[in-house]
Amino acid sequence: MSKNICARCETVMSPHAVVKVASGDGAFRSLCSRCFNTEMAHLAKLNAFEHPKFAPVRLADAGGVVHEFHFRSLLFGDQLSLEAFELASGDEDCVGYRFQLLGDPRSDPFELLGHLVQKVKRALATRYLVEHAGNLEVAGTTVRGRIEWDSSEIGHMPCVIIDGKRVDWTDFGAMLMQFEGWQFRIALVDPSDEA
Ligand SMILES: [Zn+2]
Repeated sequence: MSKNICARCETVMSPHAVVKVASGDGAFRSLCSRCFNTEMAHLAKLNAFEHPKFAPVRLADAGGVVHEFHFRSLLFGDQLSLEAFELASGDEDCVGYRFQLLGDPRSDPFELLGHLVQKVKRALATRYLVEHAGNLEVAGTTVRGRIEWDSSEIGHMPCVIIDGKRVDWTDFGAMLMQFEGWQFRIALVDPSDEA
């Protein structure tokens, strides 16, 4: 499991915490987010930048189910990316809710965290799927979610994450059959924007 050891500080990381960084020779190094941010702050001459570390936050969705969100901050030069995500259990693909916000690295990271938590709460307030007779159905006429890699499809087809739950592409297609004959509109939205 040497790939999960930070190449700089030698901390053992959980897989979700690894940041892969390309070197000039094309090789990749695995860094922890703190070391990544330290190197990036040096490159971007942001000498006052301090790596923020946030404790997990538990938030309930519209159905009262509690979700535990972990946070990761990554400095990308003039932007600080803050992500909130749920940890997948076992070897599952990337499941669960995931949110991102971009901010000014010179601003207060706790203020950015506050904005991100508000974004998470807004998203958790709506459920787009309902269970009906043991099957998941589209609750209204709008569905928001995330496109993810489906390892069983080796990248040929995606799976989608709706309400924090993984839905196979074919199952999503079956759900849309309740709208046979309807029109649809697809808008693709950057992870850091509001869907
Ligand atoms: Zn490190």
